[in-house]
Amino acid sequence: MLAARYLGPDKLEMLEVPIPDLSDEEALIRVEACGFCGSDLGIVAGVHPRARGPLTLGHEFCGTIHRMNTAGHEFDIGDRVTAFPLISCGECSACRSGQSHVCRSLKLFGFDADGAMAEFVRIPIHSLLKLPKTMPASIGAVIEPLAVAVHGVSMAPRRNVKNIAVLGAGPIGLLTALVASSESESNVCISDILPSRLELARELGITSYSAGAEMRERIMAATNGEGVDLVYECAGAPSSAVDMTSLLRPRGTIVNLGVFKRPVEVDLQAINFKELTLIGSRVYTKDDFKTAISMAETLPLQRVVTHSFPLRDVQAAFECFRGGKGVCKVLILPN
Ligand SMILES: [Zn+2]
Ligand SMILES: [Zn+2]
Repeated sequence: MLAARYLGPDKLEMLEVPIPDLSDEEALIRVEACGFCGSDLGIVAGVHPRARGPLTLGHEFCGTIHRMNTAGHEFDIGDRVTAFPLISCGECSACRSGQSHVCRSLKLFGFDADGAMAEFVRIPIHSLLKLPKTMPASIGAVIEPLAVAVHGVSMAPRRNVKNIAVLGAGPIGLLTALVASSESESNVCISDILPSRLELARELGITSYSAGAEMRERIMAATNGEGVDLVYECAGAPSSAVDMTSLLRPRGTIVNLGVFKRPVEVDLQAINFKELTLIGSRVYTKDDFKTAISMAETLPLQRVVTHSFPLRDVQAAFECFRGGKGVCKVLILPN
């Protein structure tokens, strides 16, 4: 079968590899769609802390069950599925307390084991989740990033939250803004430094401002100089680490979904003086995936997918994704 293989820094190639063998606990999925994620940029650049080549990329995907031992579970050959891509140790304190998504040695398909940017992918049966038969493949491949947004939004209490700011209008920021808007009557606005991303946010019906001065002025004007109640930090950039405290009212809350590649400056005095709450949000639980699957039908997710390519064109797809301009989700359609 063909697979998009990361071989080493800046080496992403389409290669012929054997179809994986299965144990009784595993299923072979025929991949319909698989998305690029910001973290794939880090893998291909050779700066991801764990991913080592040779490795098939891809952790955001959907497909159909092609082969497996069908005895003793709810799945059948031909079922449309996505996969919960986390691999947890089952032994650390997080795993033992039911929080395996923050496992001390958390691993993922597409980072630590071969992923789904290929004709087929091997996944443990217990990691599969059924998708509605009518769901388009392009939406099935967005369930994983949508689950990131669902988890982030679930992390902070929403009582007395009227005004929300989302920092960063990449896929996670946009999805977070959509989930936050759909779950309450709060005013949600989003910021980014790229005009093309703000344009897409506007098309999705989200109030959007240029990051920094414009966002700050608009928020302060709209909130009587108080600031918003809740910030979702989805940029993972040094400038948004500064904005996240300055945009909040006293006793406001920050949920950090953006992955910061290195330590950055944070205004701890603002956290101290305004008694802010800072909450980390990492990936998702299986329940978040289920929520994402049921929410997917009601959100305008089709607009988030801006490009799709056949598997053979994976390098062009990657260049398109890395180029960034006018790009949100880039999908590979292997079959
Ligand atoms: Zn991802
Ligand atoms: Zn663990």
